[in-house]
Amino acid sequence: MMIDRDIRKRLIVAVANRIIAGAEELTDLDRAIGDGDHGSNMRRGFEAVLAAADVLSDKSFGEYLTAVGMTLVMKVGGASGPLYGTLFLSLGKSLADDVSREQVADAFAAAIEAVKARGKSDVGHKTMLDVFHPVLGALRGGGDGLPERLKATARRAAEDTIPMKAIRGRASFLGERSVGHMDPGARSSELIVDAVADVMEG
Ligand code: ADP
Ligand code: MG
Ligand code: MG
Repeated sequence: MMIDRDIRKRLIVAVANRIIAGAEELTDLDRAIGDGDHGSNMRRGFEAVLAAADVLSDKSFGEYLTAVGMTLVMKVGGASGPLYGTLFLSLGKSLADDVSREQVADAFAAAIEAVKARGKSDVGHKTMLDVFHPVLGALRGGGDGLPERLKATARRAAEDTIPMKAIRGRASFLGERSVGHMDPGARSSELIVDAVADVMEG
């Protein structure tokens, strides 16, 4: 499939607006098991991405993803900024304008490994990785109705962080008391996947 300028722009607008609209909820989730800034961190980053949407969308898909990643590193802050930044910087290394689903899946798999290395974290630690990993599985599966399945997978994966005990991030300081709350970074990852799937549906 061809990721042309129109799609690049729509991806930024959809993802940024979803994060901005969800900022209060993300902050509420982070207030329960963190320091209550995940929504404001993410909103700051994605407002900067949205403000640069036209300039960013003029770039090739690879350079665009790299520029999004650098903007997130600079603007989001906290633990999530460098981690989301790493994800997009890694995607930017391998994706061209014309990509197959398999190439996107391979790039996403490599990006997940980069986030794990950066965060010294893994699946099951109650983080954004607990959404990325199942979403990669759904992407690899492909088939009809993929956008809807990506959304359902991300939604379930974020919910599945509720009973987990946090092993990484600020929530890990709470130990057992982190159980019973959705991880804020898992929820922001779900919002991003949901917005991307909306654009896929056209
Ligand atoms: P901070 O915790 O520094 O205030 P944020 O609140 O913006 O940063 O982001 C918190 C989110 O970042 C967590 O909910 C979790 O999903 C993610 N996160 C934190 N540490 C890690 C890590 N080591 N690996 C993967 N994700 C992490
Ligand atoms: Mg926080
Ligand atoms: Mg913080």
